Amino acid sequence: MIGSIAIQEIEAKRPALDALSQAIWSHPEAGFHEYEACKNVSELLRKEGFQVEVGAGGVPTAIKATFGSGHPVIGFMGEFDALPGLSQKVSTVKDPVEEGAYGHGCGHNLLCTAHVGAVIGLKEEMRRQNLPGTIIFYACPAEELLIGKPLMARGGAFEGLDVAVNFHPNKISEATVGVSTAVNSMKFHFKGRSSHAANAPENGRSALDAVELTDIGANYLREHVSSDVRIHYTITDGGVVPNVVPDKACVWYYVRAFSREAVENAYERLVKIAQGAAMMTETEVEVEFLGGCYNTMNNHVLAELVAECMNRIPQEPWTEEEISFAAALDEQSPDSAAATRAKYGLSPDTHLYCGPGKVTNFNSYGSTDIGDVMHLVPTAYFFTGCTNMGAPAHSWQFASCAGSSIGEKGMIYAAKIMAMYGARILNDPSIVARAKEEFDRQMAGKTYKCPVPDHVGIPK
Ligand SMILES: [Zn+2]
Repeated sequence: MIGSIAIQEIEAKRPALDALSQAIWSHPEAGFHEYEACKNVSELLRKEGFQVEVGAGGVPTAIKATFGSGHPVIGFMGEFDALPGLSQKVSTVKDPVEEGAYGHGCGHNLLCTAHVGAVIGLKEEMRRQNLPGTIIFYACPAEELLIGKPLMARGGAFEGLDVAVNFHPNKISEATVGVSTAVNSMKFHFKGRSSHAANAPENGRSALDAVELTDIGANYLREHVSSDVRIHYTITDGGVVPNVVPDKACVWYYVRAFSREAVENAYERLVKIAQGAAMMTETEVEVEFLGGCYNTMNNHVLAELVAECMNRIPQEPWTEEEISFAAALDEQSPDSAAATRAKYGLSPDTHLYCGPGKVTNFNSYGSTDIGDVMHLVPTAYFFTGCTNMGAPAHSWQFASCAGSSIGEKGMIYAAKIMAMYGARILNDPSIVARAKEEFDRQMAGKTYKCPVPDHVGIPK
């Protein structure tokens, strides 16, 4: 079977892969600060014979690790950043390793390692079968900040790719052709004039007033944008005490929609609202662009291929212990567990997924910066079961599963799926031609334009 050498190799290298995943999980790092993870991944892939470039596309913790030569060129899109406030032990109750610290509440330790495992396995298949083509593992920093891949794209890191694949840990085995939203993330910093709020209010120009008027304007804007637009904000600085007119205030916004164009349109109008608020309050506003990415645009040809690979590779059964662990976690979020079961038509006693891989078409109002890669080359995006049914995205439950044997099994399964996916493409380049045909149809003559404005550099 095409891919079987790769699958054997992944099994043989399982201890090293588990060690890598555990190292990333137990040392969670913020976006653009993935130094330890970057070092561990680079060392392992160098040892495996990959040509490793650290700092791909000008992003210091990004990795591009290449094996082979010529076409097809397949990209495997890893991510390894963690989330603030989600430190968690492997436990069925909320129990941080360190209160308030970072944790892998999105399972990027599994995400990264699955892609590493896939290229290690596939490299062995290429070597033994003399397969032509190039495989590239990418470690893409700061996915959670929705800016890592756009910056890598701007720096040219993905040039020359024919197709790509991205796996994300989740609840069931599915290759998705649904759409996730495009997004812009920005802060409005207002500067006013401080004054005693009771004795000399006439001398004050309140930056907080400007924030509040921006929010009012934004809430009126909601009526006049297309129904897929999502606008959410949080005031990150609203002054210190009531009796001092705040001379500084800040509000942080996300704008999302199912197309880049709709995000840009709403973004420009929000900037005008903030400028209007500044004019009304006689304050000044500065716009800080924090992140932005494309909506996802999935390729049906490649999604079908992933689903086929899912169904050719046997999924490891869950142990009794793993099922009771998941059941205990589901008790913590029963509504979320019930919603997942209803969405996928699963029985009420399902706590961990073990079933056929499917191509599904659910849209998501969340965002992922794989959308940018999808607007450069045809890309498959898929999930495997790595958590209990009720684990919310970005949660301590997710972090708990990502450090457990449940996440490990889902990760190894994903590595094998991607290795077989790659082997199938290397053996039959007509898949690339069909995927590209669909891609060209979807793009309809448009070209990718990095959402990050030119003046915005790599965050420190
Ligand atoms: Zn994630």
